[in-house]
Amino acid sequence: MNLDLIVKKCIKGHLCYPTHALCPNCRSIMSEETVNLSQLEGTVITWTTSTVPPPGVRSPNILAIVEYEVGGESVKLIGGIENESVKIGDKVRPVYSSQLRDPDHCQRVMECQKWSGHRFEILDKDN
Ligand SMILES: [Zn+2]
Repeated sequence: MNLDLIVKKCIKGHLCYPTHALCPNCRSIMSEETVNLSQLEGTVITWTTSTVPPPGVRSPNILAIVEYEVGGESVKLIGGIENESVKIGDKVRPVYSSQLRDPDHCQRVMECQKWSGHRFEILDKDN
């Protein structure tokens, strides 16, 4: 269990999430360097509502693509937002959840299903 939201860097400094064997941007190998996004603000660049969420996924299932800029590099992540007033440009922060899904509606063997992860919380809604 990791409460932090960690992205890795390739040897040329591109941010990658999720981690791949080779950097999707330049095909270099990944370095051991990481960046913790847990306390950083990201920006919603687009979002959608899935009107037919799969079993176990909360409804409404609002998904956002969030961009982080760190040291001149950017990385985009997809994640849930439990706020129906989300707008493009909103500033967000990742929030750890031990139960992203409902275990009673498991699609696979319970033991192989990952239940924890991050969703996003909107900051400064009045700005
Ligand atoms: Zn790279």
